[in-house]
Amino acid sequence: MNGWERTETRLARLRVAMARAGVALTAIAPTDNLRWLLGFAPLYDERACALLVTAAEVVMLVPTLNAEQTAAHAPDVELVRWADEDGPQSALRQTLARSGFDGAGALAADPQMRADHLLLLQDALPGRRTIDAGELIWPLRAVKDTAELDSLTRASEVADRAVEAAWAACRAGVSELAVADAIKRVFTAAGSEPEFALVASGPNGAFPHHETGARLLAEGDAVVIDLGGVLEGYHSDITRMAFVGAPSERYREVHAVVEAAVVAALDATRPGARCGEVDRAARSVIEDAGYGEFFVHRTGHGLGLSGHEPPYVMAGSEVELRAGMVHSIEPGIYLPGELGVRLEEIVHVTDDGCERFSRLPRDLHLA
Ligand code: ZN
Ligand code: ZN
Repeated sequence: MNGWERTETRLARLRVAMARAGVALTAIAPTDNLRWLLGFAPLYDERACALLVTAAEVVMLVPTLNAEQTAAHAPDVELVRWADEDGPQSALRQTLARSGFDGAGALAADPQMRADHLLLLQDALPGRRTIDAGELIWPLRAVKDTAELDSLTRASEVADRAVEAAWAACRAGVSELAVADAIKRVFTAAGSEPEFALVASGPNGAFPHHETGARLLAEGDAVVIDLGGVLEGYHSDITRMAFVGAPSERYREVHAVVEAAVVAALDATRPGARCGEVDRAARSVIEDAGYGEFFVHRTGHGLGLSGHEPPYVMAGSEVELRAGMVHSIEPGIYLPGELGVRLEEIVHVTDDGCERFSRLPRDLHLA
């Protein structure tokens, strides 16, 4: 399938969802939603830019400075350009007219569209009911095709190598930032963009979103290593643990509980399972071990063109898993002032269960 065929297939699926929801016009900003549709999105700044999709047309409002680049990546899309000195208002009216928008039906707006651009659209379409275009697009984006799964596999291979580099760099006297550097070098060398390299040592591990800093790793530290990058537009995300010196009994116990929670969630992940059930599987293991109050976040999130995207694996979610969906399983236990343990796998749902992308063991790595 070439780029435009893929775009047309996805547009057709979006239009089915629009018709079902009574939506006459979908406006997509230069976000991952546009990357999903066109395989490209220009820089998104204060300049209004949106792809307008109706039942019959697709037209893009684009600032002149990004028009050539957009035309090079999406030659089949009709562009309406606007120059800085003119402002977007009249070009927007022209785009709306070209899109064949007849005034009936709701407007679906990209959930990541800037508020000022949404106001501009709503000004041009007074009295229009506006809904979240995510409701139409997420169910489509959530199920990955073979090419997407292949990109995610390649992205995950780089992330595995980055974890191995982090493990090799972890030793007493080395700073969290130096370990993060070793991680970033692996991504860059693989032609991949390092997106984040969280290295949380000792008590810092008890903060799930610790900001990697100058702290030096010391004997007796558990180290949470959570990293991810982008390859071919697709994200990776993995968490593994290292320990400097000999791990305490307490550490071994907590690690074993988190490991059991991961296994329970892996076992629960299959087509037809609700996201809430997968969360429950992991959470009940941790609760039964007496650490329930220290597992302070959902079990997982979807992953693809965005680092975090639906489906969210969380308590109460009735979202049903389907083959081709991709999500993380990342339970953790965070003991304030002491340590944190998180283990994270990215899986894709298969016809009868799930398969993880990473090939790394989840055992404790001793430094
Ligand atoms: Zn992560
Ligand atoms: Zn994650």
